[in-house]
Amino acid sequence: MDDMQTTRREALLLGAGLLALGSLDAPAFAITGDMAGQPWANKAMRWAQVAFTEEDPPSYDPKFWFDLFKKTHVDAVCLSAGGCICFYPSKLPLHARAKYLGDRDMFGEMVMGARALNMSIIARVDPHAMSEAAFAAHPEWAACTADGKPRRHWAAADMYVTCQNGGFMFDFMPAVLKEITDTYQPEGFFGNRWAGSGMCYCQTCRDKFRAATGLELPTSNDPQEPRRKAYIQWNADMRWKQFKLWDDTVKASKKDSFFSPNGGMNDPNNVVIPVVAVDRQGRSGTTPVWMMGKYAKQVRAYMQNLPVCGLFNVGVEDENRWKDSVQRGPELEAWVHVGIAQGFRPWYCKFNARILDPRWVPAVEKIFAWHYAQDKYLRNTANLARVAMVNSTQSGIFTAGGTAFTAGDGVRAAQRVGDSQNGYYQALVEARIPFEMADDRQLEPQHIGRYRVLVLPDIAALSDAQCQQIRDYVMAGGRIVATGETSLYDEKGRRRSNFGLADLFGCDYVKTEEGVKNSYLTPHPHPLTAGLEDAPRIIAATQQITVKPHEAGKAPLTLVPSYPDLPMERVYTMTPETDIAMAFCRQVGKGRVVYFPMDLDRTFWEVLAADHLVLLKNAVEWAADEAAPMHVFGPGLVDIAYWRQAHSLAAHVVNMNNPMMMKGPYREFMPAGPYTVSLAIPAEARVGAVKLLESGIVPKTAREGDRLVVTVPHVRLHEVVAVDLA
Ligand SMILES: [Zn+2]
Repeated sequence: MDDMQTTRREALLLGAGLLALGSLDAPAFAITGDMAGQPWANKAMRWAQVAFTEEDPPSYDPKFWFDLFKKTHVDAVCLSAGGCICFYPSKLPLHARAKYLGDRDMFGEMVMGARALNMSIIARVDPHAMSEAAFAAHPEWAACTADGKPRRHWAAADMYVTCQNGGFMFDFMPAVLKEITDTYQPEGFFGNRWAGSGMCYCQTCRDKFRAATGLELPTSNDPQEPRRKAYIQWNADMRWKQFKLWDDTVKASKKDSFFSPNGGMNDPNNVVIPVVAVDRQGRSGTTPVWMMGKYAKQVRAYMQNLPVCGLFNVGVEDENRWKDSVQRGPELEAWVHVGIAQGFRPWYCKFNARILDPRWVPAVEKIFAWHYAQDKYLRNTANLARVAMVNSTQSGIFTAGGTAFTAGDGVRAAQRVGDSQNGYYQALVEARIPFEMADDRQLEPQHIGRYRVLVLPDIAALSDAQCQQIRDYVMAGGRIVATGETSLYDEKGRRRSNFGLADLFGCDYVKTEEGVKNSYLTPHPHPLTAGLEDAPRIIAATQQITVKPHEAGKAPLTLVPSYPDLPMERVYTMTPETDIAMAFCRQVGKGRVVYFPMDLDRTFWEVLAADHLVLLKNAVEWAADEAAPMHVFGPGLVDIAYWRQAHSLAAHVVNMNNPMMMKGPYREFMPAGPYTVSLAIPAEARVGAVKLLESGIVPKTAREGDRLVVTVPHVRLHEVVAVDLA
């Protein structure tokens, strides 16, 4: 968090959303709020962004953009206004005008054209750099390296990196925000790189940190080192102050305007950003295509019913940042549609207002025209999933830029947070169990009470209060499935002597062993092992936790301890069976608990063993002990979601049968089918017309009790079964 650049890049490289969104870019606080007053952002379904370059003003074609906005039916557009470089004739002397702006007001022209199309305007500001002239006037605004030298910009050598705690952010930028608001009255602001560019050692930072904490700035990255720990909290406080100052500044000039920082910022005092754009520009590295859906679920978990936008780049995005490139249609369509299925509003982003390569345009037009045509089935009011995976924002916070989570004698690789989550995510997708995510900052009954099952994929860091919330949830009839070191640490990353949830798990913590090789599990008859009846021995996870069970009894899975894997002559065991429990399936209170004392989900992410899929799926189904609201029968891999709107239901089936599913980009689509989709119909609902929104056909349907069974002949990429409620 303190080195945003590194953290962001690492998260991209891992492709794993390693840290929760809040901790990627901004401190994470609890959030509450309701939809009172329905701000305009709630109504805006389709979004666009044009990020200008200095070279654009004399030669870009505004008409191209207005035509495209019309064809893509966008309701709001984000346009570059100012910050490090401005695209309007600013009166602020140090506000560097774009080199080729001349007397033109490019921002103003685009604002006027978009307003004529009835669009809302988000002004984009980027304060992470400043000009030579600004530096000459205010050298103290620059960020400094550890030896106190001002930081030149890493890519634009004539600019300086700004300090996130100094005058540029706290004096100059409010003046910029006020000028833009007074002049153009945008509906809101979007701040790119607003939170600094990593650790700054300037005098301002030294003084302010000392005044706040009595400490010198940390030089160690160890998140458990006291100065670093204090810095993490102080940085969060400073970002909150900065956000509040900027948001108050724009509101003072336009009451219903707001500042939305890239990555989000949530308020412990019930003030909420009305819309968040999640900057997940495209796939890179080994990233499954469902990842865009996971980002949507993560951010919706804390935004609740407020709109969240999936910001994608029409160019190729990885750490090499080819900003002028374009992606081919199939990859764009797949990435965006997965996000739409899981509740994102699409937001296209084009860097450079001039069109060097127009090949992205037809794909964007197609996605957005479809989205517009199906608008009413995409205005979701509720997700009908009964399973939610807990998203642990704090398990990632006390990790130094994604390196390690250390406490006492415990050392946890931060990557575990993402890998365990991705493993269980993949399993739930493969199992076709519709699921949501729940934010670990919102475990109150009003947030998690609607779920039958909470999945806790190695959710290591849980406070005593959070453990109590989960305990209350189970006692009242909720069910949990937990793995690995769930609840072994507190919210600050300090290791407990026992699991915080030992009473639910039915066992006490003894020790953790990492990297266990050639170890196995023996399945015993139980619903957890259904489907493994013919398997005498299956592979075990590589992190194994020794526990002391509270009660005697045969577990559904027992351990075959590690034995030699070499030489071949020695590959046998003298202990082919033990009574060491590797799964606990229990009734607790009115609820149920499944606990695996091993990192079964993380190992699944590594190995993708089908036997582990069976266990991860059965665990949720045994815990749920009810029929899922949506079943899909048919070939291969699909991502699903079941939503309700004001007057309809919409069941999404995304076809992920593609050789490029786990690593992009898609080359083409492989239509798959037929699928049978069985939907639980809410008791008070009466089914009217049913149609398929991708193929456009009216499908065959049948009623089976309280379920509606729909035949979907084939899915190209993203079919939606739309059910009108009469
Ligand atoms: Zn500084």
